[in-house]
Amino acid sequence: MNHTKLLIIGSGPAGYTAGIYAGRAGLQPTLLEGMQPGGQLTITTEVENFPGFPEGVDANELMDGMRRQAERFGTQILPNAAASVNLDHRPFQVTLDDGSDWTADSIIVATGASAKYLGLSDEQKYMGRGVSACATCDGFFYRKKTVAVVGGGDTACEEASYLAGLASKVYLIVRKPYLRASKIMQQRVMENEKIEVLFETNTVGLFGADGVEGAHLVFRKGESDERRYDLPIDGFFLAIGHHPNSELFSPWLQTNDEGYIQTEGDTPCTNVPGVFAAGDVADARYRQAVIAAGSGAKAAMEAEKYLGEKVKS
Ligand code: NDP
Repeated sequence: MNHTKLLIIGSGPAGYTAGIYAGRAGLQPTLLEGMQPGGQLTITTEVENFPGFPEGVDANELMDGMRRQAERFGTQILPNAAASVNLDHRPFQVTLDDGSDWTADSIIVATGASAKYLGLSDEQKYMGRGVSACATCDGFFYRKKTVAVVGGGDTACEEASYLAGLASKVYLIVRKPYLRASKIMQQRVMENEKIEVLFETNTVGLFGADGVEGAHLVFRKGESDERRYDLPIDGFFLAIGHHPNSELFSPWLQTNDEGYIQTEGDTPCTNVPGVFAAGDVADARYRQAVIAAGSGAKAAMEAEKYLGEKVKS
């Protein structure tokens, strides 16, 4: 059995920043990197809005810098994910995906969020053969080809713009008659000649012999002028939002209807004393790297306070 005063679960901006702060506070935290070291940012390209980088910064460089900064202050980083937790027991019990057992006096949950899919059986059928939720990971395979991106938010616009730099044609499939994305992202999409926005359009299936060769689309579904047609494409990219990775903790931690961990007021404190939540797993509203980093700092400060009071009592 291994023991740590503070276990940080997750390695996005929230987890690493918690590691930097808790490390500097002398807590010698242990951090589990999880399935996606560096978190969601590592599947994007350039980050233009993280303060301190006026020309933008490569997302992987940014995360690697945070990782090394956490290590510099004594955070022990393990390449594992948490497989199960027990928050009834004190110290808290955590089993890792390699089967090792850990106990922790306090925990920071910074497990982030994952991409959503439409729920079509064809998405599973063509996964890795034309279906992707990460343009920056898979866009390279679609050079000079035709692709579609689903979604109308900032992610969809960003992915469509990125893919337009590689593919010969990009369709943006938007279910509403407008984009939800910020004005600057909308403008980038609208001004890009390679991108064609298909408003009021839903995808109901995909087709193709070995991989994706096209999508079955419906324009103005359920309306008198509803039109069903097939759009030939080589790649189908999902960018319709994310769901929080909170399932492991939901038997103990209060979550909202969408599964985001609920914290007390403006703090990262959960309903279980000693367990804190930081970053996108607890943030349905902002979901920004800089905000996740800030909440990681807050969680480490609260953990330090909690552990200090525990020693005194
Ligand atoms: P959003 O939740 O903002 O947008 C999701 C989009 O997907 C919406 O257009 C939504 O449509 C659509 N959608 C959801 N479900 C379906 C479905 N079943 N079928 C078809 N369309 C669907 O998610 P994002 O990932 O775009 O952004 C999340 C947050 O991250 C936002 O706050 C965003 O501003 C931020 N972000 C910031 C970036 C930056 O600053 N560089 C980059 C990327 C994201 P509808 O509008 O109809 O609900």
